[in-house]
Amino acid sequence: MGALLALALALQAVTAAPKFDAGKAWEHLRQLVAIGPRPSGSPAIEQTRKYIKDQLAASGLTAVEQVWDDQTPIDKVHMVNLVVTIPGARKERIVIAGHYDTKLYRQFRFVGASDGGSSAAFLLELARVLKTRKNPMTIELLFLDGEEARLPDWGGTDNTYGSRHYVDLAKRDGSLASLKAMLLIDMIGDRDLDIRRDTNSTPWLTNVIWETARRQNLDDYFLADSTRIEDDHLPFLAAGVPSVDIIDLDYEAWHTAKDTLDAVSARSLQVVGDVVLGSLPNIEAHLSKTLVLTGRRVVNRRSYKVLRAKAVTPRRKGLKQSMIAMKHRRQAFVPTATDGH
Ligand SMILES: [Zn+2]
Repeated sequence: MGALLALALALQAVTAAPKFDAGKAWEHLRQLVAIGPRPSGSPAIEQTRKYIKDQLAASGLTAVEQVWDDQTPIDKVHMVNLVVTIPGARKERIVIAGHYDTKLYRQFRFVGASDGGSSAAFLLELARVLKTRKNPMTIELLFLDGEEARLPDWGGTDNTYGSRHYVDLAKRDGSLASLKAMLLIDMIGDRDLDIRRDTNSTPWLTNVIWETARRQNLDDYFLADSTRIEDDHLPFLAAGVPSVDIIDLDYEAWHTAKDTLDAVSARSLQVVGDVVLGSLPNIEAHLSKTLVLTGRRVVNRRSYKVLRAKAVTPRRKGLKQSMIAMKHRRQAFVPTATDGH
């Protein structure tokens, strides 16, 4: 009996899905907020990158830097995306992304506990969990710089610098072909968590996530109503990558001095952690069906890709133009009759 119990426990240890620990995510969030305002190009965001890289190293992971200088309407800014690869059985990959910069404000001290802090803290804890998981596909965690507009208002190409740079590079080096889905995490710290379906996001991917939330009895946080969001997922969608934005923009402290630890909670990080991890098997199942069906075409596309890679540089302008043409604005939350709390 004792031996059987030991065997049962050992089996459970092997088969139990690794769990997201909001306590650990909260500690990351606390550390990030303690650094202070972390706008792109600042010494504080350099310090933030060091923290992220050190924490990843503690989980046995390495961040690869994508470094560039980008021209904003105000100034030229040094930017860095951090890319972490967690190998899986297949080389095709799912990207889980979030921004780690905070919006530049000179009039007040903006520490971005939810806006910039929560996504980075979330990805750090997710990295620890996914490192121990048996991943059928490769998972890439992407810490994006330059999500925020440099000017006070969101407009034109003065935003999503990091995601546009990443997609540009992925097109040029051919790695876009193996990118099968993108999950974007943004502003998930709100104490009063209300995540709405985003109508810019890919419907099947959105459905998988909202169905998981319902199954986990977390539909008080993942609401049935919709809004339209402009965020770091748009460059991926424009490049044909199925993408979903998990964001709570119904946040009183949004872009104010009040976006501090008082406005956020570990519970909200846990909710999103559970839903994202719970959704992954269904996302992978959905994608693996497509991969089997298009297996031959994927192989053929590789030789095609090499030919195209050489001709891509002049097309960058075209992408920039189409981003300008994308006239959606990041929409503030519009209350609806169903919003009762
Ligand atoms: Zn923001």
